[in-house]
Order: sequence, then structure tokens, then C-alpha cells
Amino acid sequence: MSITPLLEEHQRVLLGLSEEELQAFAVELGQSAFRGRQIYDWLYNKGVRNLNAISALPKAWREDLEQKGFTIGRLQEIKRLVASDETVKLLLATDDGENVETVGIPTKQRLTVCISSQIGCAMGCRFCATGKGGFQRSLAIHEIVDQLISVREAMGRRPSHVVFMGMGEPLLNIDAVLSAIRCFNNDLGIGQRRITVSTVGLPEAIPRLAELALKRLGRAQFTLAVSLHAPNQELREKLIPTAKSYPIRSLLADCRDYLSITGRRVSFEYILLGDINDRLEHAEALADLVGGFQSHVNLISYNPIEGEKFKRPKFNAINAFQNVLERRGVAVSFRPSRGLDQSAACGQLRHQHAKE
Ligand code: SF4
Repeated sequence: MSITPLLEEHQRVLLGLSEEELQAFAVELGQSAFRGRQIYDWLYNKGVRNLNAISALPKAWREDLEQKGFTIGRLQEIKRLVASDETVKLLLATDDGENVETVGIPTKQRLTVCISSQIGCAMGCRFCATGKGGFQRSLAIHEIVDQLISVREAMGRRPSHVVFMGMGEPLLNIDAVLSAIRCFNNDLGIGQRRITVSTVGLPEAIPRLAELALKRLGRAQFTLAVSLHAPNQELREKLIPTAKSYPIRSLLADCRDYLSITGRRVSFEYILLGDINDRLEHAEALADLVGGFQSHVNLISYNPIEGEKFKRPKFNAINAFQNVLERRGVAVSFRPSRGLDQSAACGQLRHQHAKE
């Protein structure tokens, strides 16, 4: 296996490579495979930031690697916000001066990292701060993997869960996302079942994700979370402009395909927006849509963003909505927002930083 082309493709960045790839890398550069295993340990267990700091490697080789332009590929933390519920939001800088948001959401038993897959987002969902800023580019593998290591460092504990629910549409960066899942799973100890990939859906991309995951990872045990947010096509198009080219019936058919390829039930995310999609008739229509399909509905309360007039749903409306789904036999849960006092909505921190 020749590792050099892979490294050239990613500007000679090592973060994101597997143990086998790092061994092959060391051998190709005239070192023993053991040296590759040492780099692996420093990358993923010690979270090293530059090659020169890997004191286990011969100094001459470290210098040679740096001269040849190899780097670890860590991002720089430029801002940290800590909410009263201990949710931590980090703004990380990439080499080309872009900013990436990532969030650590702790409970006693869990530390969930909310990961971004792109800088900005092209989907333009009306209720989302990231969508308002437009799309810059997709993230490379190391820029995705770094987010988990940065949260681990900032919070001083090992993340247990990963959700691809930060900036960007993961299915528009499917190769890097699958590579990052492999890395989280094999190199950073996050079981696939503790990883969630969230999408608003793109024509044909959902079955393709299932097939690619089986081909590249050998299994697809992560959770697919589909952002539905409306029980019918008309309302969905108003909230998610890209839904115009992807009818809700096709989306549901693709989710059924996903279930039959992977055997994994799909989660449907539904942001409750006060007086927009939170009425009882919406709950009944949602039950009609997903009823009888092996799935789970996650209700989320909207977090207000600047420049949009959407409101949070009332407490009673949330309860009533959930009750309808339960009565209709739909598996449902309500996820309270975290870090409300610290720009909790995706994309807000980056947006504020840009303004500053
Ligand atoms: S909600 Fe997700 S898909 Fe929609 S604009 Fe925001 S980041 Fe993009």
C-alpha cells in the first residue's frame, strides 16, 4: 500500500489516519512499523499538536518530517463559552482562517460531542443560524476528528457519544464523514451505536449512505436522524428550501430503504416552532406519516436566532403534541435544549464571532 498519495491529497496531515496507515507511512519513509504505532498513540491518546512534540520519535526524524511538510492537523481554539448547565461550545480555527463550531454536552453518564461536517451550510433552513451564513467548504477528515479531541481536552473527560448535528449537511461530505466515523470508532473508542448522523435529506443520498457505510466500515450501526420538522410537503418546503426538490414521500421511501439495508430504525427530528408546526393537527399528520414505520420521533424545542421571527413552543403545546404521538403508538421523546444562555443554536457562535 502506498501511503504517500493519500497524504498528499490531505496536505500531508496525519490526524485521521488509522494505525495500519500510520505503520505503512513510517515504513515507507524508511522507519520501522513501531514508529507508526508511536505516532498513533500520540495522535489519539495524547492529543499531540505538533510533530516535534512527539518525544518518543528520534529528533532527526521529527525534523525531517516537519521539513517535508507533514503536520498533525490540529485546529486552534479561538473561543470557548461555558453555559450554566456546563455545556461547552468551542470555536476552532482552521489553517485557512475559517471557523468551526463544536459543542460538548455533558450529563453524569455521558459526554456527547456535537460535530460540524462543513463550514457554513448550503441548505439554508429558515430556523438555522448556520444556514443564514451561506456555505464556505466541506471539512477534511482531520478537521472533523479534531473537534472530538478538542472537546476531550476542554472538558477533561472522554466523550462517549457523537452527533453530526453541528454546522453543515453531513451527506454533502459523505466520504470525510464516514472516514471520521471509522476513526471515532476504531481510534477514539466511540462505538458506532453511540454515533448519530443527522441529515435534512438529499435525493438518493440516504440509501447511498447505507451502502457506502456497509462497504467502507463493514457495518452501519450508527443512528440516522432525519430532520423532518414538518408533517407535510407544503410546510416542509417553507422551513427547508431544499425540500422543494425532494418530496416528503420520496424521503420516507428512502428511509424505508435505509431500514431494510441496515436493519436500523431511523430517528426523525422535529423542531417545534411556536404556532408554526406545533399544533395538534400537525401531530396527527405526523403520526399518519410515520405511523407503522419502525422509527423514533425526537421533539426539540426551537432556540431563537437573530433575524428570524420564529418563537419557542409553549410548554403545553409540547406536551399536547407528544401526547398525540404517544396515543397513536409513535415512539417519541422530547429533547430539552442545552446551553440556552450561550448561543446554543448551531452556527450562532461563529456568526457572533464574525460580527465582532
Ligand atoms: S439545520 Fe443543518 S442542514 Fe439546515 S441549514 Fe442548518 S446546518 Fe444546514
